Amino acid sequence: MPKFIFVTGGVVSGLGKGVTAAAIGRILKARGIKVSIQKLDPYVNVDPGTMSPYQHGEVYVLEDGAETDLDLGHYERFIDENLPDDSNVTTGQVYSHVIAKERRGDFLGATVQTVPHITNEIKRRIASAAEKSGAEVLIVEVGGTVGDIEGQPFLEAIRQMRHDVGRENAMYVHVTLLPYLSWSGELKTKPTQHSVKELRGIGIQPDVIITRTDRAVEKAIQDKIALFTDVEPDAVIPLVTSDTVYEVPLVLEEAQLGGLIVRRLELPPAEPDLGEWQELVQRIKAHNPQHCIALVGKYVELPDAYMSVKEALLHAGISHNVDIDVAWVDSEELEHERGWEEVHQADGIIIPGGFGHRGIEGKIAAARYAREHQVPYLGLCLGMQIMVIELARYALGSEDANSTEFNRKTPYPVIDLLPEQRGITDMGGTMRLGAYPCRVRPDTRAWDAYGQELISERRRHRFEVNNQYRALLEQAGLIVSGTSPDGNLVEIAEIADHPWMLGSQFHPEFKSRPNRPHPLFRDFVGATKQCKRGLE
Ligand code: GLN
Repeated sequence: MPKFIFVTGGVVSGLGKGVTAAAIGRILKARGIKVSIQKLDPYVNVDPGTMSPYQHGEVYVLEDGAETDLDLGHYERFIDENLPDDSNVTTGQVYSHVIAKERRGDFLGATVQTVPHITNEIKRRIASAAEKSGAEVLIVEVGGTVGDIEGQPFLEAIRQMRHDVGRENAMYVHVTLLPYLSWSGELKTKPTQHSVKELRGIGIQPDVIITRTDRAVEKAIQDKIALFTDVEPDAVIPLVTSDTVYEVPLVLEEAQLGGLIVRRLELPPAEPDLGEWQELVQRIKAHNPQHCIALVGKYVELPDAYMSVKEALLHAGISHNVDIDVAWVDSEELEHERGWEEVHQADGIIIPGGFGHRGIEGKIAAARYAREHQVPYLGLCLGMQIMVIELARYALGSEDANSTEFNRKTPYPVIDLLPEQRGITDMGGTMRLGAYPCRVRPDTRAWDAYGQELISERRRHRFEVNNQYRALLEQAGLIVSGTSPDGNLVEIAEIADHPWMLGSQFHPEFKSRPNRPHPLFRDFVGATKQCKRGLE
């Protein structure tokens, strides 16, 4: 029988509830407990795939092609398990399923209601995820904050689950904000008290309260929260903002949360082994030489839109003992001749994934700069397409070469729609998604990185290199270093006569882990190191 830890949030969003859930996963895994994590998102979209990054940050893609919340990225990076598509449940999925059943007549004349039909479907998805994962403990994070209208069915479902599975098999962790008032020099507990009151009003008594704060929390404050919320004082855990999110498991373990969970859920007691994790945090916090990477994108004012890229750069930096300083460069600004200093000063340039024509010319100009000035370059999905368009413009002597995504009537469609994408009209879940194999060509940078022929990486795209231009591009210095196993799709491309300029049609950032940097990111950062040394 799996056990459940339900993680809810109060007061405000953006507290780092996802990181907290992921960190709980890590401290349990450190005890040899098999864990999995699921996120319940109360919005009505079926998945975040159709949402603007401004709304939602990055869309994280799983092995099986599910487009999910960026918190799933934290989960995979912290617990180092590939999660399946049932790890992200939304109101949209739950209602679509229940309404389809109603249309089939499966409810045999009943009035279909939020309770029990919607709540039952939510519970079924939680139980099924637990069972399929084979986990001893499933951590379930409820998105949003307590009090949100759309979150109510989810909270009601997790309330009922304690009755369904028994008290010793379910516990509740509530994450709240402990604000500091600078004018009176105090940390305030009232928002936490109100949030817990709201939660108790729904029928959920938290077992643990984690308070997010920027200041050290005195014992008296913890005791006060405990008194007002009926939570044991040692189960009120301050989580002071740390230098790196990877420190959170260590902070929670230090506060003895692991032992508390083990006792509360009657799990077999075991000493946690967080040695490797401690070493990782030490390496992140060590002051290493700085490397500046210019990330040229169009959502740069919102780094959450590039969460996994940022983390993958950090992981690669750790492996080379360098601190990565990301310069967030707005590609539209480059089009207006602004922001170039950051590109010129950078040790490497990265162009991440993206959609739509806004800012494309700025990205092409940045890729041109990288090629002409021998600056290490890594292109991710769109970033590879940009690299190819730039080279094609150079080879053809025409600025009209383009992707049909940005100019349908281009005379040189060097990037074009994948054949299977023609005729698709629905936007949601219809891209080429999830893990596909790729064959790497020997004697290339890609081979140096992977050191093997067959690899598997995650995709999220509709467009590809147009094979009609492959010969021309190869003559111009493009090395096709990775293809689909049948040789048909260009999956990795490189520029000849350049220290390190490589693009992948897939998204390597999703598979980077703190202790296992992704080979392409690792070698890209390695190249920036080499080039820097060359300059000295
Ligand atoms: N817009 C491009 C495509 O659909 C690139 C997608 C991406 O970068 N994820 O092919």
